[in-house]
Amino acid sequence: MKLNLEELKEAEPKCFKCKRDAEIKLSYCDLCSRCFQEQVEKRIRKANRDFQMLDRKDKVIAAISGGKDSAVMLYMLKQMQDRIGFELEALLIDEGIAGYRSFCKQKAEELCQKLEVKLTTSSFKDAFDNSLDEALKKRTKESDKTELKACTICGVFRKHLLNKKARELNGTKLATGHNADDIAQTFLMNLMRSEVERLKRFSPTMDEKDDFVPRIKPLLYVPEKEIALYAMLKNLPFELRECPNSKESFRGEVKDFMNSVEAKYLGIKFNILQSYLKLHKIIKEKEETEAKPAFSPLKCEKCGENSSATTCKACQIKDKISTS
Ligand code: SF4
Ligand code: ZN
Repeated sequence: MKLNLEELKEAEPKCFKCKRDAEIKLSYCDLCSRCFQEQVEKRIRKANRDFQMLDRKDKVIAAISGGKDSAVMLYMLKQMQDRIGFELEALLIDEGIAGYRSFCKQKAEELCQKLEVKLTTSSFKDAFDNSLDEALKKRTKESDKTELKACTICGVFRKHLLNKKARELNGTKLATGHNADDIAQTFLMNLMRSEVERLKRFSPTMDEKDDFVPRIKPLLYVPEKEIALYAMLKNLPFELRECPNSKESFRGEVKDFMNSVEAKYLGIKFNILQSYLKLHKIIKEKEETEAKPAFSPLKCEKCGENSSATTCKACQIKDKISTS
């Protein structure tokens, strides 16, 4: 067989955008490293523009975990800070998960040092008297084990603490590292559980309401795999190991399901995300044309935080754990 070097070279994949040699093979196109990085950055800037996430007067508190998503988010916020001019600090919640959180915390500290961003850490142990591991051991009743799964306790405590600490740090925005896959998963989970009210509340940005620090999700247009790749190309410190509790979570199962469908039908994840964004727009427009009832959340009688009942969910769980 005759080999023609020039022909072989021609057959090498070329970047879809600039026609240089492609180094990155995505499921929908091949890109060179430079165009790939530009594409990720453009999507993050587009999310900011589409949802007016960042303002010069903001003090942005970036919730970081030591993982790839929040590493990329903090890196990009730092770049955008130079152009827009807002204040930026990072916040890490230490749940107290042995063999996991300490490694992630170390990476988060390295990242903040590298990017010269001030980091505040707050723990479940300090705020709720028990680390997550301790709380899980204290669930003796079978009913509590079913009702209070690791991710349920973790999610409620983390949300509560993030808002409280962001407010204490005088944050005007709380940025979280949810990527496109996370958002599609949450949308699907809400549908599967018929949680329509949650679906309404789950938003790319959450408006300021009473004591809630508005949340923003700058990575909402970027798929998980591309974030991991970007973090590696930028040499950002991040921890790859997964939380030992993630396997028992409903989200983990939805993630596996979505990945298996995506493997057969390319573009499914993107379509779910688009459906969510379209539906969200319709809900928003409808809300704007309807007279809004005044939003007045109750204050938890135990901790003083916003609550939909006289005792907030975090205090209910805290009490349950202490009486188990
Ligand atoms: Fe918390 Fe569950 Fe995430 Fe682990 S997987 S950090 S327990 S929410
Ligand atoms: Zn409370």
